[in-house]
Formats: sequence, structure tokens, C-alpha cells
Amino acid sequence: MRKLVYLGLGSNLGNRLENLRRAIQELRAAGVAVGRGSSVYESEPVDYTAQPRFLNAVVEAETELMPRQLLQRLQHIERRLGRRRGVRGGPRTIDIDILVFGEHVMHTAALTIPHPRLAERRFVLQPLCELAAGLRHPADRQTVSALLAGLSGGGQVKKVAGSRYLRPDT
Ligand code: AMP
Repeated sequence: MRKLVYLGLGSNLGNRLENLRRAIQELRAAGVAVGRGSSVYESEPVDYTAQPRFLNAVVEAETELMPRQLLQRLQHIERRLGRRRGVRGGPRTIDIDILVFGEHVMHTAALTIPHPRLAERRFVLQPLCELAAGLRHPADRQTVSALLAGLSGGGQVKKVAGSRYLRPDT
């Protein structure tokens, strides 16, 4: 069954915008039908702060994959785009997170859905709100726009490019 998913993308090394665009191409090649993308935001690093600013965006996609399979493909793409595992939360050419996977709620050692820090991060909620303001968090049932309105802190974000930068052929 095809599921509607939202993926969070982030990059703070190399050509950040190009890394986001390449990740989307790779996702399509891996059986993840990426549709609409948000604007691109620049964000202050939150956990490990002594590192460059990130570019972040959210994409909507459909997939037949199961959550664990999707995670494996995302990790494969992260490696292909040159990500090396270093400091947790540290600099990376690309980070791809599963934010929401249909109505799935799951918590295992490898995978938590919806993403555990979804509701705390402005760089996730702001772009997600552009695509799906009325989407309800499958566990706590709050809408994305209510979560964003209720956020105090969560890191600074600034829109730096429109959504057309994430479309193919631009
Ligand atoms: P990160 O360093 O942010 O890429 O996170 C690393 C780990 O988070 C991965 O090895 C995953 O097993 C785990 N993880 C748990 N939940 C998720 C999720 N919803 N999306 C992506 N990774 C997740």
C-alpha cells in the first residue's frame, strides 16, 4: 500500500543546496516518489552548536516501502552523498529523517515514528507547515500549525530560497 510520508532534509557541509537537490534525485531513484518540496531554510545548529549553519527543507513523498526499508534506503543515500558518521548531531553533507509515515506510530531501537524531535524543531515544523499545516501528529493529534505556534525557541530559521529550487530541472 502506498503511504504518504514527510521527510526532513538537512545539510551543513559543501554545497548545501546542491546536496539537498541530489538527495531528492537519489530518493526518486530509490523508489520514493518525491512530490512537493518546501522552501529552503537556513537554521542555527541546535544540539552541537560549534558548526556551520544548516540548510533544511521538507519534502512530501509516496512510497510502497515499509518504514525500516525506507530508513535503510535513506541511510544508503546519506552514505552515497559522502556522509561520515562523526559527532552525533555534528556536521554532515546530508541528513534525511523520516518525520511522518502515514498514520504509523512506532518506537524501536532503530526507528521512532513520528520523528522524536519533530515537535521541538522550528527548522522541521516551519517547512512542514508550508506543505501540510493541517496534518495531525499521529500520536498527540495536534496539527503541525498548532505545534509551530506553541513552540518557544527551537532554533532560529530564515527562509533563503523558494520551493522551486528543489524541483527537478531548475
Ligand atoms: P541522525 O544522526 O540524526 O541521522 O540519527 C541517527 C539514527 O537515528 C539513525 O541511525 C536511526 O536509526 C535513528 N532514527 C530513529 N528514528 C528515526 C527517524 N524517524 N528518521 C531517521 N532516523 C531515525
